[in-house]
Amino acid sequence: MYFHRIAALLAMCLALSSGGASAVTQAEVEAGAARLYRVRIDALAQAGMLDRDAAFVARVARIAQRLGEQARRDNPAAPALSWEIHTSSDPDDNASCMAGGKILVSQAYVEQLALSDAELAMVLSHEMQHAILLHNLKEYKEAVRRDPGWLARPFSALEEALDHDARLMGQLAALNREQEVEADREGMAMAWRAGWRAKQLAAYFRKLEQAASMSHIGSASHPSALQRWRAARRQAGALE
Ligand SMILES: [Zn+2]
Repeated sequence: MYFHRIAALLAMCLALSSGGASAVTQAEVEAGAARLYRVRIDALAQAGMLDRDAAFVARVARIAQRLGEQARRDNPAAPALSWEIHTSSDPDDNASCMAGGKILVSQAYVEQLALSDAELAMVLSHEMQHAILLHNLKEYKEAVRRDPGWLARPFSALEEALDHDARLMGQLAALNREQEVEADREGMAMAWRAGWRAKQLAAYFRKLEQAASMSHIGSASHPSALQRWRAARRQAGALE
């Protein structure tokens, strides 16, 4: 989610420099995300933490490609996303997909949870749905809709506020939570349509729930691991 937020902020910065919220387009959001993704990828490469295990890179790419082909079949009329995939060995990363389809997956995260291909497909499908559903753009629009005054202030003030201003974070929390729930639900549905067994996809959430120290505790912006597992189990039951 951190990556999503940065991308949204970058998009907002572009909007401010190009004349306000009404001028913002998905193309601008994607351009901003692509620029930020490049910075992150370059930093990982310099630190020797980018794409270190060719077999893991190939595994992630194979699963993401199958999901990307399903996304295309699901909505052939939608503008094509420029999927790009890299893997990180930074233990602080997990998985993210920025606007336009820029994916980063941590090998440490996948190994720590010993994810099967289906479970990894669930992770990737969730992340890819954030891009497919244009979540960054929606978050950006919601921030400005609630307080158009941000447009008159420097970008740095808004950037600071999104991470530290409890009021603004509170304003966006419900949307963030909705987007997480939606990415879980649509992510499982897409991976199931792509051919993975729903119960095997749901097993990812079981692992998350078991790994969480307090699985019943969520937040305003994120459902709890227990809620995610229960929703996934219910959805898998309905699909199979
Ligand atoms: Zn998410």
